[in-house]
Amino acid sequence: MSEILTEVLNANERYASEFGDKGKLGLPPARHFAVLTCMDARLDPAKYAGLAEGDAHVIRNAGGRASDDAIRSLVISYKLLGTREFFVIHHTDCGMLFFNNDGIRGLLASSLETAELSADGFRDVGAGPGSRAGEFIEWLTIPDAEQAVVDDVERIRNHPLIPGAIPIYGYIYDVKTGKLNEVSRASAVGKPR
Ligand code: ZN
Repeated sequence: MSEILTEVLNANERYASEFGDKGKLGLPPARHFAVLTCMDARLDPAKYAGLAEGDAHVIRNAGGRASDDAIRSLVISYKLLGTREFFVIHHTDCGMLFFNNDGIRGLLASSLETAELSADGFRDVGAGPGSRAGEFIEWLTIPDAEQAVVDDVERIRNHPLIPGAIPIYGYIYDVKTGKLNEVSRASAVGKPR
């Protein structure tokens, strides 16, 4: 068994042994909100936003972007499970700032091994063959950190399946301090209407 697999299963055994009343939690989030955030390993939404099991929906992807699939989850979140406020939370030093569509497509076409991140961005060091299938994916990279939060909040705000009454807040989490800093332009766009 891989070392990680063993560690995860051991950790889960400890967690389940102290599970207590959490088995009685209801399906809808008790605090009626949803967070869309990045998958970055340094971000722990339960900690940075004070969540316990059962409190809120947390939707994560690379960048915390308002992709079609993120919107699918947000629609299910409010329509079927009663959330009433949304947060879009990106962060400083996001990996999505360091490449663009052409960049990752080129890296993948070169090889399927992990690229190296250097001062001038990602560089492929693998042995080929790669694949050109990356040409068909929109990678939703982030050329401008603040603008990306505004764009995502705006896309959610203007989506025909998202009701105008839901406030959408836009924030950037600072990986150096743990602090959430509001992107006021995003929160303005996300105001209920
Ligand atoms: Zn990120």
